[in-house]
Amino acid sequence: MTRALTMRRPDDWHLHLRDGAMLNGVLPETTRHFARALIMPNLVPPVVTMADALAYRDRINPALEGADFKALMTLYLTEDTDPEDVARACRENVITAVKLYPAGATTHSGSGVRDFDRILGVLEQMADIGCPLCVHGEVTDRQVDIFDREKVFIETVLDPLRRRVPGLRVVMEHITTREGVEYAGAQDNMGATITTHHLILNRNDLLGGNTDMIGLRPHYYCLPVVKREEHRRALRAAATGGNPRFFLGTDSAPHTDAGKLCACGCAGIFSATNTMNLLAHVFEEEGAPEKLEGFCSRHGAAFYGLPVNEATITLRKQDTPVRFPARIETGAGPVTVFDPGLDVFWAVEPAACSAG
Ligand SMILES: [Zn+2]
Repeated sequence: MTRALTMRRPDDWHLHLRDGAMLNGVLPETTRHFARALIMPNLVPPVVTMADALAYRDRINPALEGADFKALMTLYLTEDTDPEDVARACRENVITAVKLYPAGATTHSGSGVRDFDRILGVLEQMADIGCPLCVHGEVTDRQVDIFDREKVFIETVLDPLRRRVPGLRVVMEHITTREGVEYAGAQDNMGATITTHHLILNRNDLLGGNTDMIGLRPHYYCLPVVKREEHRRALRAAATGGNPRFFLGTDSAPHTDAGKLCACGCAGIFSATNTMNLLAHVFEEEGAPEKLEGFCSRHGAAFYGLPVNEATITLRKQDTPVRFPARIETGAGPVTVFDPGLDVFWAVEPAACSAG
């Protein structure tokens, strides 16, 4: 039985850091284990130009306090995005990708795209220079059931768009369905990120609780919303199956408890603190601990054309469950850490959390 896993330091290909006091509070939770992360641009106002990305990077870097970590920046695609600005930001290595949010799909997506014809020029430019497009893959049509929005997005938006700009490299972010796995897993020029929590939760966990705690679990609410068990099974098979198109993007998304626990609670699960512990548990459960390094440390870097990290981390299985903090304090307020609702015995060295 595997008791220790040593692997190259992982990367998080989908991370929300926010800004200001929240940024300062959550950043150490990621830099403790991760060497790089692709930083999402959905601030208020969003990061839409190269100048915005430089300014945001300049707010992140001082907060690193000497941590060995690189923030990889993205731009928020709008209908007014200037193709030349994107090209320059890519050329000068300011950004690693551009993020597409359909308007209204998730937290702070109000500036997103409504008319996809209006972004074709930018997408063609990106295809020419090899800049990847990261896509929040859900339609926002209120007529479409929230559990079907990813599947409908693939059929009505993503596949037609990719046919119009065939050279474009696309990452389907945080896939949540069997249809997402089947589509992204078989296409050229495509990758897909999978979150930690979508490998652990199904919609019963969100809406039904468990025998100890029956009721709605607001800290399990995220977008795209967690789906049926058959979809969770498909995501697990994809993540642990070794296909290099699939890699980790935690979508760790901090909201204060006040923002989560109210009449219109925010969507987002904060998993930066314990993601690596939980993934070791999941991969062991699936009988594929040796596939963890590919998913966390190799496939994403290969997709983005970056070298794997030199340094390593070690995950070690202990006899007593690892205890994670229930919440972290940030200057913006307390943020609840993802509680998977199960005992996890995998600790990360250097230890992130105390044992026993
Ligand atoms: Zn996200």
